[in-house]
Amino acid sequence: MTAQSAQISKLGAAARRFVSQTRNLLINGEHVPARSGKTFETFDPADNGVICAVAEAGAEDIDLAVQAARRQFDGGEWSKLRPSERERLILRLADLVEQHADELAELEAIDNGKLLPYARFGDVSMAVDFLRYMAGWATKIEGRTIHPSVPYVQEARFWSYTLKEPVGVVGQIIPWNFPLVMAAWKIGPALATGCTVVLKPAEQTPLTALRLGELCLEAGIPAGVVNVVPGFGHTAGVAMVEHPGIDKIAFTGSTETGKAIGRAAVDTMKRVSLELGGKSPMIVMADADMDVAIPGAAMGIFFNQGQVCTAGSRLYVQRSVFDKVTEGIAEIAKSFKLGPAFAEDAQLGPLVSKAQQERVGSYIQSGLDQGAVALSGGRVVEGQGCFVEPTVFVNANRDMKIVQEEIFGPVIVAQPIDDLDDIAAVANDTIYGLGASIWTTNLNTAHGLAAKIRAGSVWINSHNIVDPAVPFGGFKQSGYGREMGQEVIDLYTETKAVTMMV
Ligand code: ADP
Ligand code: MG
Repeated sequence: MTAQSAQISKLGAAARRFVSQTRNLLINGEHVPARSGKTFETFDPADNGVICAVAEAGAEDIDLAVQAARRQFDGGEWSKLRPSERERLILRLADLVEQHADELAELEAIDNGKLLPYARFGDVSMAVDFLRYMAGWATKIEGRTIHPSVPYVQEARFWSYTLKEPVGVVGQIIPWNFPLVMAAWKIGPALATGCTVVLKPAEQTPLTALRLGELCLEAGIPAGVVNVVPGFGHTAGVAMVEHPGIDKIAFTGSTETGKAIGRAAVDTMKRVSLELGGKSPMIVMADADMDVAIPGAAMGIFFNQGQVCTAGSRLYVQRSVFDKVTEGIAEIAKSFKLGPAFAEDAQLGPLVSKAQQERVGSYIQSGLDQGAVALSGGRVVEGQGCFVEPTVFVNANRDMKIVQEEIFGPVIVAQPIDDLDDIAAVANDTIYGLGASIWTTNLNTAHGLAAKIRAGSVWINSHNIVDPAVPFGGFKQSGYGREMGQEVIDLYTETKAVTMMV
């Protein structure tokens, strides 16, 4: 028997009520157990205690969820709503998320391990902003008119116009690092464009997506439009990717899983958008404002315990300031107090799971084995919780695993820059292309490098800045497609060309 999470006693009444029973699947507006009767437990990574049991969706449950979503899309109540009505429903959902901010933040903090203030003022606030932004798009989806040059038949002419139609039933598979934000990023554009949803949260963090699904119903979004089906990747996830009733898969997660999904989705020619891994460089020039660059780079890697797809995990610093910058970041790393999500003095939480702690621990060990030197950290913390010491590596080279592979933890690897002409090549020396940052006070350096870096997001004197109005996604093996901003509408619509002889 595994013990209960000690932090359950810290939850407010609403969150405590939510975890006091087995959480069922949310299909067609109803809370239902899995057809198989199976459940799995979700854990608090602060002490590895159980939070509650959750119904485990299998292929049969996915099929029921797809049927519900199909009925709403193919002529159901949802398919008849006007854009302004969809806008109003998404805005209501945003209001409800805001009204339940404390409850959602508590559920997020206990399930994922992230510190409560971050969950409350970071994750939940971002989810609200994102839903409000997407609500506005519902009434602003437009096609074009075109005058074709095809030879006229007698006196006839042709005119064409395009329609942006919703892609259909969307299967959305999300990771555990920002569970509520990811759910909002996924369902927001689906609802704005008129799609319907089968959403599978990560098995490590199912709670806030389930609560969000309930709030969708409370907002008045018709039953069956948003179905939430927690379960495992190799069962529920695979069933979604293979299901012929799903028109598109939107996935955020690891590059390895993204490739498997991309391959499998081709069989039914599903549309696919993939937001995958990264190994994002942070480039600090000698002319940078060090009061901005040192704490900024520290946050660039240690935010969310480094479990961020754009985490600044490779640090390149001009030689003359290399020691100052790396020692400055190491000082910050050493100063962090590690603790559970609800501890008031905690500054860095645990990683999401024992498996993730072990994975990150083995990367740290490989760095040490290959000769890198840890200026701070260098160890996982023994004990029940999934804590890892924030680690700053120097004495590294490009052939090390810690330089090439995504670690997804609080581990940064620093290397000096000697040749100024070589910076972009070094930054681009990775299979990934998600994010990058440049820290400098020189405009030419900033914009010159921004143009040369092969990554979907380039930040100048900042890192990890993400906004609903700004497109986000990866070059190279970091993915397909751009979420957020105007670009996301293309991910959730099919373009139809209508041509008429006049
Ligand atoms: P991690 O290895 O850190 O759990 P993944 O990228 O494997 O990251 O997981 C992200 C999401 O993808 C989770 O919701 C997970 O259940 C799901 N998933 C994992 N494997 C598959 C798969 N083969 N097909 C579909 N979904 C999957
Ligand atoms: Mg959990």
